[in-house]
Amino acid sequence: MGIFCKIAAMLGFGSCDKKKTETATESVKTQETVTKPQPMEAIKTVKTNEKKYVLIGAGPASVRAAETLRKADSSCSITMIGLEKESPYSRMALPYYLSGMIEDTGTHLRKTEGHFENLKINHVFAKVENIDAKKQNVTTDSGDVYDYDKLMIATGSRPANSPFPGADNKGVVNCWTLEDGREIIDTIKPGSKVALLGAGFVASIIIEPLLKRGADLTVMMGRTGQMVSRMMDETAGGMIKTWCESKGVTTILPSSIKSIEAGPALKRDDDSLTEFDLIIVATGVYSNIEFLEGTGIKTDAGILVNAALRTNVRHIYAAGDVAQGVDFSTGAKAVHAIQPTAVDHGRIAAVNMMGGNSTYKGSLSMNVLDTAGLISTSFGSWGGVEGGDTATLVDMDNYKYVRLNFKGDLLVGAITVGRTDYIGVMRGLIQSEVPLGDWKEKLMEDPTLLMNAYLAQSLDAAR
Ligand SMILES: Cc1cc2nc3c(=O)[nH]c(=O)nc-3n(C[C@H](O)[C@H](O)[C@H](O)COP(=O)(O)OP(=O)(O)OC[C@H]3O[C@@H](n4cnc5c(N)ncnc54)[C@H](O)[C@@H]3O)c2cc1C
Repeated sequence: MGIFCKIAAMLGFGSCDKKKTETATESVKTQETVTKPQPMEAIKTVKTNEKKYVLIGAGPASVRAAETLRKADSSCSITMIGLEKESPYSRMALPYYLSGMIEDTGTHLRKTEGHFENLKINHVFAKVENIDAKKQNVTTDSGDVYDYDKLMIATGSRPANSPFPGADNKGVVNCWTLEDGREIIDTIKPGSKVALLGAGFVASIIIEPLLKRGADLTVMMGRTGQMVSRMMDETAGGMIKTWCESKGVTTILPSSIKSIEAGPALKRDDDSLTEFDLIIVATGVYSNIEFLEGTGIKTDAGILVNAALRTNVRHIYAAGDVAQGVDFSTGAKAVHAIQPTAVDHGRIAAVNMMGGNSTYKGSLSMNVLDTAGLISTSFGSWGGVEGGDTATLVDMDNYKYVRLNFKGDLLVGAITVGRTDYIGVMRGLIQSEVPLGDWKEKLMEDPTLLMNAYLAQSLDAAR
């Protein structure tokens, strides 16, 4: 298991281990068999009150929702509509695919042949264009209409348009879908000149695989001139940038670029053209909510949901990257576009769609990045809170950084660069809201005492 897989597992992001994924799949199937003494067809013929569930999207949120529904109800009708003609896959696995660690099939969320058919989950390839909340149906781009008793929207997000004109030129791609991944792999050969527009989350985690493929890489910084400015402070962002440069990456500022031209090429301020073999645009994301216009479903940055993942419209739920729900740290509503949140959402929405009463405690802002081999993390209120205290430990030469943010004696946010030893503890302390008491002052002096503080205070709390 690689370092990133270990960290992912430690944080509950799931495992990169193929066997484990299949075991999880099998466990659903096994329980199906136990609760279903007769073949599914036989049950269908005696159905009395078959519920119709429609899930829009076929990513992690929908897959988990579909499996949860089927586990509890062997006779309901489940239709999962996704616009990509792929077996449901994890975008999170794209960097591993780009680096050659896995094949494209390795990104699939469920790897057992016929998994969805066996569970009688009807996976339709189509784009949903309209929802009629009164008639309780959805219409796809092919004109098909699907009635629902309960509907879940899990359409995720999509890459933001390039900030520069000319992104429709040949050789300009995003890195969002499996199809994008295939194009990137087909194009990049050792020595290929690649420009990566953007230095946010996606950009920073694909630098490693692009370098691994032998790309001669130029990265355009964010608007602030900083890397990952939406999830790391200046010190951490600066460290990551210097690290990338030390690995041979050229960095440029957005202000130096005018447009993308045929070639593809970047036109600079002085009208000079730099040609590339590939330009990858990774300049942020937007929730896929446009098709909801006129439906009455309330949206902001995403679809507004309550703790039960219900929207304001009866019988309609939302989950995953497209849902804007409670932020654990602030109590405000936020989109937390990470896979563990999507999976939790999918499960909880499914339980509630079936008439259950499950609530989501709120998602914690949580980021783990492997940027050209340098691991950085940020959790919760990573930028600190008003009136709170902050402890930092910086070792620029060795690319090591720890930042702890306190509110009173609670740890409410943290950042690390180059250290993976504390991250499980950081998440634990933030989520459990364990008061640190005297340990807070000790941590202000020496943030490396975090494990000692965690053990001491967690044991106290457990007594
Ligand atoms: C390169 C990359 C790396 C990532 N790495 C990580 C990571 O390390 N850790 C982490 O936690 N998260 C990571 N993420 C984010 C993670 O992939 C998402 O949080 C997760 O995919 C969200 O799941 P979802 O089901 O909500 O949405 P998605 O996975 O985006 O699925 C949305 C689905 O909706 C479909 N769809 C959209 N519009 C329509 C429509 N109108 N009609 C029908 N179908 C539609 C799409 O085709 C897709 O099937 C990464 C993302 C990317 C792009």
